[in-house]
Amino acid sequence: MATTTQTNAQAESSLGFFGQVNKMFDRAAAHTDHDRGVLHQIRACDNIIRFEFPIQRDDGSIQVVRGYRGEHSHHMQPTKGGIRYATSVNVDEVMALSALMSYKCAIVDVPFGGAKGGVCIDARNYSIAELKRITRRYTFELARKDFIGPGTDVPAPDYGTGEREMAWIMDTYTQLGDEDLNALACVTGKPVGQGGVRGRTEATGRGVYYGIREACAYDKDMERFGLEPGLEGKNIVIQGLGNVGYHAARILEAEGGANIVGIAEIEGAIYDPDGLSVEDVVAHRQDTDSILDFPGAENIKTSAKALELPCDILIPAALEGVITADNAPNIQATIIAEAANGPVTSQADDILQEKQVMIIPDVYLNAGGVTVSYFEWLRNLSHVRHGRMSRRFEERNAERILRAVDELTAEDFNEDLLESLIEQVSFGAGERDLVNSGLEDTMTQAYREIREIREEKDVDMRTAAFVSAIDKIANSYEQMGIFP
Ligand code: NAD
Repeated sequence: MATTTQTNAQAESSLGFFGQVNKMFDRAAAHTDHDRGVLHQIRACDNIIRFEFPIQRDDGSIQVVRGYRGEHSHHMQPTKGGIRYATSVNVDEVMALSALMSYKCAIVDVPFGGAKGGVCIDARNYSIAELKRITRRYTFELARKDFIGPGTDVPAPDYGTGEREMAWIMDTYTQLGDEDLNALACVTGKPVGQGGVRGRTEATGRGVYYGIREACAYDKDMERFGLEPGLEGKNIVIQGLGNVGYHAARILEAEGGANIVGIAEIEGAIYDPDGLSVEDVVAHRQDTDSILDFPGAENIKTSAKALELPCDILIPAALEGVITADNAPNIQATIIAEAANGPVTSQADDILQEKQVMIIPDVYLNAGGVTVSYFEWLRNLSHVRHGRMSRRFEERNAERILRAVDELTAEDFNEDLLESLIEQVSFGAGERDLVNSGLEDTMTQAYREIREIREEKDVDMRTAAFVSAIDKIANSYEQMGIFP
């Protein structure tokens, strides 16, 4: 038994992350009838660069840092994808993550090709000043190599980076640019005061919420997995309380009525079957530097062990490859919602399908970030905040309609009722309302498309999501006439 497990683990690692993504791609491609050459082109990673540059540490010493950027597909331009700061960053990871970005953008109809980049550092070991020097120099290298620009390649936040780093990238690019009027659109996920869009920070987590909510909305599907429809009261375990994990957990609890029973972070995990308050856990972590010893909760020694806790929905929201052939047999969750990229290896996927676990795949579920990045990019190119020209007009219009109804109908509203109706109805959408509404519509629509493919081809959700991506990318190649 031990030998078999070792062989499985070895087989997984020899395939690599990009190999695993391609295995999932091939499985889906078998359900399409596209030309083999087209399929080969969709799979291939177009460009990848690796570079090294020196930075000065605060103590005056010089350290050489390694950076990467991969542009997987140029069937749409610009290419788009996050920048990750982690020691795991390597060529294989960048190729895999950029491929997932291509498929993700296609699934949610966002007109970008896929890209991804990263710097091979543990950001916790650097001061803010050092991180700023690394980010600026990394951007300079990208610009010199033509791997960044509003119409070329547009980075965004990912693991270990956030709006602070995006502001540094934007500032560096703007300094280098030749008075490019659209320079702000060279990166998304910026702070709102610097061209960012309201709702981007929590967009991936909010998208995860909309995706899970939609998945739980179908009586027939829930019945198949022995669950009640709806999110209310569902027990959830989440791994990773960073940008994606924190917002997903917070919104699932506050808006979905779900019960967050387990939270795992780098230092270990906590479990309380009666439910944890996400905000209280975050406050406790801020006070004590750890989620452990949270009042009323049981400590679980390792983050990995928390993946095996009993729950309805397990949400890995940290890094890839956390559910493998080794631990997949021990997973107790009925649904795995892949908020992180690539958390389930392809061999684990086979085991989980066998166990009848429903997987909501990463290529769909964490697409909220790139969807709202698209809204930010559009805002930067149009040089106007979403809703700025229509909000007041919409408010007034709704008020005018109500007053006209009041005058034209026999119904004579009393003045208080009329005023209260006007207050409720005459509401012009601000930027955040528009962004959230666009995000909700995108996630809901994409889920329905994938589910339809799943039903039609009798496949699992991941295969259906890849089929959706392959069909859309193949169509755009074919329409462009690249394959006459
Ligand atoms: P983040 O850096 O904000 O947060 C990651 C969190 O995971 C951190 O709190 C970290 O301490 C924790 N963590 C690290 N190792 C862990 C472990 N072994 N167990 C438990 N927790 C651990 O990163 P993020 O932006 O939230 O990204 C998380 C995942 O979501 C990544 O796979 C990323 O590619 C994916 N993703 C992010 C975005 C985005 O908009 N930020 C979009 C799509 C996908």
